[in-house]
Amino acid sequence: MRTLSMVLILVASSAGPTASQDKPSTTVILHAQIVDGTGNPLRQANVRISGDRISEIGTLQPKTGERTIEAKGLVLAPGFIDIHNHSTEGIENDPLAESQIAQGITTVVLGADGDSPWPVGPWLDARRKNHASLNLALMVGHATVREQVMGKDFKRPATEAEVAKMAQLVDQAMREGAIGLSSGLEYEVASYSKTDEVVALSRAAAHLQGFYMTHIRDEADQSFDALNEEIAIGERAHIPVEHSHIKLGTVGVWNKAPEYIAVIEAARKRGIDFLADCYPYDAWHSNIKVLVPDKQYENPQSVAKALADVGGANHVTIVDFPPNLSYESHTIEDLARANKLTAVEMYIRIVREGDAANTEANVIGQSMVESDIQAFYQQSWVMVASDGGIGSRHPRGAGTFPRVLGLYVRERHWLSLPEAVRKMTSLPAQRLAWKDRGVIRKGAFADLVLFNPDTVVDRATFAKPFELPLGIEKVFVSGTLVWNAGKPTGERPGRVLPEKGVAIVAK
Ligand SMILES: [Zn+2]
Repeated sequence: MRTLSMVLILVASSAGPTASQDKPSTTVILHAQIVDGTGNPLRQANVRISGDRISEIGTLQPKTGERTIEAKGLVLAPGFIDIHNHSTEGIENDPLAESQIAQGITTVVLGADGDSPWPVGPWLDARRKNHASLNLALMVGHATVREQVMGKDFKRPATEAEVAKMAQLVDQAMREGAIGLSSGLEYEVASYSKTDEVVALSRAAAHLQGFYMTHIRDEADQSFDALNEEIAIGERAHIPVEHSHIKLGTVGVWNKAPEYIAVIEAARKRGIDFLADCYPYDAWHSNIKVLVPDKQYENPQSVAKALADVGGANHVTIVDFPPNLSYESHTIEDLARANKLTAVEMYIRIVREGDAANTEANVIGQSMVESDIQAFYQQSWVMVASDGGIGSRHPRGAGTFPRVLGLYVRERHWLSLPEAVRKMTSLPAQRLAWKDRGVIRKGAFADLVLFNPDTVVDRATFAKPFELPLGIEKVFVSGTLVWNAGKPTGERPGRVLPEKGVAIVAK
């Protein structure tokens, strides 16, 4: 249990989004099969939405003047909460977030992998002025504060004074509305940090009830060391941990999910509050340099090992590379053949062209095995998250949640429907410590998704990553319909969470 001792800040209450005048204030959804998000089995009931909340569940009948929705044959679930979503920039330009609500997502958590907007307060205020269709919450990024303090001189461990300054910035961000600290220790800026630095920053976040979300230092051959570091950070900082996109991403660790899970189970038994999320694809999306963990990007031996580790150069596809658009949508193997180079030479050429343009190629690496993904998804502490977002060139950006429901639940029977929905709703809500979302219960917010369990399926592919899914019939955010009959309604009732007026409490 976490003890609350002192109320530090009470933020002024917000005006909240304005509701249109011409809509009925209550809606009754009739005859849906309800999956309440807690893992309980399906049950048929009617649900009344009053304003932004669920006001009644049961055999209730609609009253005159109420809007009714006939939902026979459909499943009504809590709206999906995507705890790892990269729509930070997307939401500024595309607050309708069509590709997200089309999947049934009603809340996104932004600022993952150590990278967040800065400063946090003004960015969140801008979102409160220009509402999105869905709710959002924000993590403060470790690399973001590291760069604030160290500038371009980040290729070294931070001094004690610098770490103290970073912790101060984490504290500031938490008070301005961030809900936790994210890190991306595999990425350039954070890769030079020592464990102690991350522990110090995690303590600052824990002090204000935040959690620690991390893309760990290595998801390849050193996966186990990186996992142990993550657990140590959680234990030393006394902070709940969210392991981002759990995976085993190189040949050397393929099929080791049972051992990986055992390490996590042991840590959970010792008392660490450890949860993880997983996206339903066997391929990752990142920059070309993460392939080579020793950072010897132009060393033929290092590059050769890196390509072999992911299963070969045919497993790496360039998806986004502004300096040379002709590379896009091709594998390194194909490009090597076309350019009469070895795959290693081709890799080095792409890195050099990127360096010359001060950028890095975005790549998709197909380097996970299905049996590991299945093993992870079958753990009670693993939730569904996309690691995608608006404009993502990986199909997870538009397909994640329907894919789990269509492929893993309906076709492969890896999970029951109630368990899959729990992983999309109350489990992320548990990590966020939100009691009134992620569940269908009287008094909870009416973030809801109505879908057809027989047809729901993703359609986004690596070739066509923006194809929207099928079978998501209606989506409500705080009682307002945002997705209906295959398109957005145009409503933007999304809120910044947690809402102002909620006390930020220090331990
Ligand atoms: Zn990541």
